[in-house]
Amino acid sequence: MAIARPIQIRFERYSGDVGLAPAKPPRIVTAEERPALVAKAKRLLKERDAVLVAHYYVHPDLQDLAQASGGTVSDSLEMARFGHEHPAKTIVVAGVRFMGETAKILNPEKRVLMPDLDAECSLDLATPADEFAAFCDAHPDRVVVVYANTSAAVKARADWMVTSSIAEKIVGWLHAQGKKILWAPDKHLGDYVQRVTGADMLMWNASCVVHDEFKSIQLEELKALHPGAKVLVHPESPRAVIEMADAVGSTTGIIMAAERLGAKEYIVATDGGIIHQMRKRLPGVTFIEAPTAGKGATCQSCAHCPWMAMNGLYGLIETLEGAPGHEVFVDPEVGLRARAPIERMLDFAKVHLPTFQGSGDA
Ligand code: SF4
Repeated sequence: MAIARPIQIRFERYSGDVGLAPAKPPRIVTAEERPALVAKAKRLLKERDAVLVAHYYVHPDLQDLAQASGGTVSDSLEMARFGHEHPAKTIVVAGVRFMGETAKILNPEKRVLMPDLDAECSLDLATPADEFAAFCDAHPDRVVVVYANTSAAVKARADWMVTSSIAEKIVGWLHAQGKKILWAPDKHLGDYVQRVTGADMLMWNASCVVHDEFKSIQLEELKALHPGAKVLVHPESPRAVIEMADAVGSTTGIIMAAERLGAKEYIVATDGGIIHQMRKRLPGVTFIEAPTAGKGATCQSCAHCPWMAMNGLYGLIETLEGAPGHEVFVDPEVGLRARAPIERMLDFAKVHLPTFQGSGDA
């Protein structure tokens, strides 16, 4: 298995290093301020003919507001599809930049806004479009399959885009056709898909700053303390952690597994933001965040994405009040090319996976 390039991502906020993408924390909302801010955001959403679509990993304030105001809480593709089907002329994306871009790619006729356009993703940052294009050019015999967590320009260079819930189906199908795969960007998800399908996959070398930090030894210790707990793992996690899972799944897949397995306790190896929705759906059940670095924690994210955390109520209100610098733009020609691999996945799903809901990014 060839490795394309080293990972170069470091984060000033968490490690003290000056990195490529320091993440700004949002303005804190106090309990006293919250009701008035929520009421104002709801009023503005209505006045601006806007719908709020939030990712599972953003702050509970925004998840609750999205659900209470007729929006949705889901993964990036479902966020984009929901925004497409909703009659509102403006989609407000509470998530990270590639999610705003995906919403714009699938909804070029709509206005797409984000509370903070600097909300990045380590997978996206570690895959510059020009370097990725050169990598693809060097391997013209391979079908290019990219994960949803990539820029519009990288998607535009791909043959297929996949989410984590459909990746193994599509790669398995391509493998059965005798195709060799060029996979990007997440090395752990790629490794998982490779082991499940047996496909010939050449990997880009990038990882999610959140999932890369889950530790199998500490997870073993935590399991010993909670012998009845089931372990739910997102496949962006390292192999040793995946091997300890009772269920491996995408964001929506993890929530569905918790509903299906019927345990009283779960250890969850993905961004801790998802636990808010799990508690809402399964009251009385205990959810424990999987350990990142144990007692000697040196983790950069500690199971919370620093960029998802940039989304907050103040930023949302500023966005809805029309402050400049919140609108997502995608070059129309790039957007058109990036749309093709997304639609290829959706068409595949209609035929091979009729229950597919599009779920499965980080
Ligand atoms: S949790 Fe990981 S994959 Fe998701 S946006 Fe953050 S860095 Fe990217």
